[in-house]
Amino acid sequence: MAAEFVPVDPFDLVIFGGTGDLARRKLLPALYHRDADNQFSEDSRILAVSRQDMDDAGYVAWVREVLEAHLPEALDEDVFARFEKRLCHIQLDVDDADGWQAFAERFADNGERICTFYLATAPFLFGKIAAGIADAGLSDAPNRIVLEKPVGHDTESAREINDAVGSRFDESRIYRIDHYLGKETVQNLIALRFGNSLFEPVWGRQAVDNVQITVAESLGVDERFDFYESTGALRDMVQNHMLQLLCLTAMEPPASMNHDDVRNEKIKVLRSLKPIAPGNVRKTTARGQYGAGMVDGEAVPAYGAADPEQQAPAEEAEAETFVAIKAEIDNWRWQGVPFYLRTGKRMARKSSQIVFEFKPVPHSIFGDEPLQPNRLVLRLQPEEGVEMSIMTKEPGPGGFRMRSLPLNLSFSQAFEVAYPDAYERLLMEVLRGNPALFMRRDEVEAGWAWVDRILEAWRMEQVEAQEYMAGSWGPTDAFVLLDRDGRRWYEG
Ligand code: NAP
Repeated sequence: MAAEFVPVDPFDLVIFGGTGDLARRKLLPALYHRDADNQFSEDSRILAVSRQDMDDAGYVAWVREVLEAHLPEALDEDVFARFEKRLCHIQLDVDDADGWQAFAERFADNGERICTFYLATAPFLFGKIAAGIADAGLSDAPNRIVLEKPVGHDTESAREINDAVGSRFDESRIYRIDHYLGKETVQNLIALRFGNSLFEPVWGRQAVDNVQITVAESLGVDERFDFYESTGALRDMVQNHMLQLLCLTAMEPPASMNHDDVRNEKIKVLRSLKPIAPGNVRKTTARGQYGAGMVDGEAVPAYGAADPEQQAPAEEAEAETFVAIKAEIDNWRWQGVPFYLRTGKRMARKSSQIVFEFKPVPHSIFGDEPLQPNRLVLRLQPEEGVEMSIMTKEPGPGGFRMRSLPLNLSFSQAFEVAYPDAYERLLMEVLRGNPALFMRRDEVEAGWAWVDRILEAWRMEQVEAQEYMAGSWGPTDAFVLLDRDGRRWYEG
């Protein structure tokens, strides 16, 4: 089945941080792919901003190298011939007030094109860049601004950024990225819940025993040690990706797919999250840091180890590379249903999924034959799809031998279409001016408020990260977290 590609109106996309890692690995390949599908008008431009002394031709040559290194397929010369004509480089140190005049001049002749400013830089520059854009006379409607994650590193810094950007751009024109919202399976979660009448009656405390959300990576922190030490898994993964998945899983049906209808429901979930405080932090969270171990058949060093032979994490290393949380939602639908969240680096394998474990049958008529609970598994990666496990009778005579079997739906097989990267979708949504897949200010701040309390509780209770072996499913405390409730993580 062929996907439909709808062209977008002419645009100027300005990438602050157009020479950075994110631009290299994600943004430029995503834009090239959308151009390959003829979604951009001839006069649309992509303008990269960085401090480097580089002209447009230099940037084109650099982008060619980047695409050759990062595209999963060979570079198509015809597509690149079209793509390169859009590329420009603007040398600007955003800290340098004098540079903005020359920046403004690059837009003197941009006609009807809507400017979208994509801030792929460190977040402490966001306010400064928004001010520079406004001073250059480019912040008026319909121009838009995109903020990469993270928006700040706690509630206070998030507010400062939101205030600074919000004083120049109207909230309706601020797009805060969480790339998980661009993933097909995450959107399929909405399709599954609200496009089928089957699930609503069982979506809540009457039928669901617990929900488990796992985002596991087999990669380590490696050269991002300094960044990770100042961030940790709770800030890096839970405040944004995990909470967004939780919201979409637990929210009430929105009135429509309109962006504010969906976001109004998500914020209610965030506001219903039971706070985690010093009194309950040890029973509701687990913190871990990986030691050396084996991942995908290879020996890997401990977190922050300067020497690859070093078995234990670096002595000064403090950040958690793993976190597990028992989250509870204080509302009617989910009262008493724990949402277990878990994310970590150097886990047994790369795997992201949302698992619903349903309650056991109230009475078994099959004697001693064990019955497993029904599970609904939404796989986000590696292979996107939905799986439902159901109890069946093994064929053959001689009584009932019960077996759990999966009903398996693989999206890639069902649709026979390559799934675009989340950034491809998100960039197109921004260029179309559709904010549904982006976070609103109140969501970001509510997420930080919940996470800040956990950080504070860890600090007050001196909860240190417990070492786990690379290639495992995390520290002992993560298993104890569920064991205490008589449950286990689903690893299937
Ligand atoms: P990076 O590799 O360090 O790139 C930073 C970019 O910002 C470079 O292009 C740099 O250009 C530019 N820059 C820095 N200071 C500047 C200044 N004063 N004036 C103008 N340009 C300046 O960082 P990154 O990994 O791409 O990450 C960028 C942001 O995205 C960060 O907030 C990060 O947390 C977030 N993010 C990254 C990823 C990822 O996979 N990398 C994923 C999600 C979110 P020059 O140094 O060449 O001037």
